Amino acid sequence: MLNINYKKLESIMREFNISCPTCGIDKIVKIPTEIFSKKESGCVKIHVPAGIVCSDHQFVVFIDQKGIIRGYEKIDLILATKTTELK
Ligand SMILES: [Zn+2]
Repeated sequence: MLNINYKKLESIMREFNISCPTCGIDKIVKIPTEIFSKKESGCVKIHVPAGIVCSDHQFVVFIDQKGIIRGYEKIDLILATKTTELK
């Protein structure tokens, strides 16, 4: 008897060619397909930190449930986690 682990199948990674909306550098990024099946409606929004695709910029990528990249959103301001000392 063949026992297929559907839970495991759901967590398969899918490759996306994601490009930086600011400078156009692109890279293949693996995203778990599970995120698309969990999403009931609309696009999946993925925050791509600097260093993943582009070393200088971070952005948000919108991918629909079919796995089609719908758009990118540039991030205008990143709030620092460290408090800077005033001199
Ligand atoms: Zn960039």
